[in-house]
Amino acid sequence: MEFKRVVVLTGAGISAESGIRTFRDQNGLWEDHPVEDVATPEGFQRNPNLVYQFYNMRRAQLLDASVVPNAAHQILAEFEAEHIARGGHFTLITQNVDNLHQRAGNQRIIAMHGQLQSALCSVSGLSIPWTNDLTAEHHCQCCETPSSLRPDIVWFGEVPYQLDDCFEVVSKADLFVSIGTSGKVYPAAGFMQVAQESGAETVELNLEKTSSAFDQGYYGPATEVVVDFFSRLMQR
Ligand SMILES: [Zn+2]
Repeated sequence: MEFKRVVVLTGAGISAESGIRTFRDQNGLWEDHPVEDVATPEGFQRNPNLVYQFYNMRRAQLLDASVVPNAAHQILAEFEAEHIARGGHFTLITQNVDNLHQRAGNQRIIAMHGQLQSALCSVSGLSIPWTNDLTAEHHCQCCETPSSLRPDIVWFGEVPYQLDDCFEVVSKADLFVSIGTSGKVYPAAGFMQVAQESGAETVELNLEKTSSAFDQGYYGPATEVVVDFFSRLMQR
């Protein structure tokens, strides 16, 4: 079967081999912080400086020479270019806030959980490219009265970016590939369901199996299973 409309969903698992630590450890902590302290609007209100500092560290990590796109990121960029050149459609929906898909060269990316290298005007909602440290002292230039900026990260309890666009492309997909993410949590679980209801072939590429609902599953490190799967797809 020739797939024309391909949607790929990626999560933390694709960036693990690039030295980006996965979201939560076994104890529900994120880099030693309870998630509610550093990844909720309430946590930001309680202690903005802690939250600024937390994301500053992660943003700085992206500038580290050792953090680079790995072979799995690269093959997705290659696949997109080739697929588009053949007249296909491709959308990459990522839950990751690192910049590795962008650096690998993917063009059509929906960063549904925001981006580390971006600041958000708390009033206008405008995203502003941001590569340095962000603090309470920084203000936007978009509002008449300069407003405070916050990390451009979708926190728990907030609505992911472009959710309607995500469901739109997923509902039209004939191939839906979930990479390095647990398919169990909404909205990722919802994408899977919509893709299947719309008749798409569904594939899971992950370190470990998360759900038996996928039509196909390949398990192992992303640099192996993602590269294998998309290489085979391109050879067809
Ligand atoms: Zn503003």
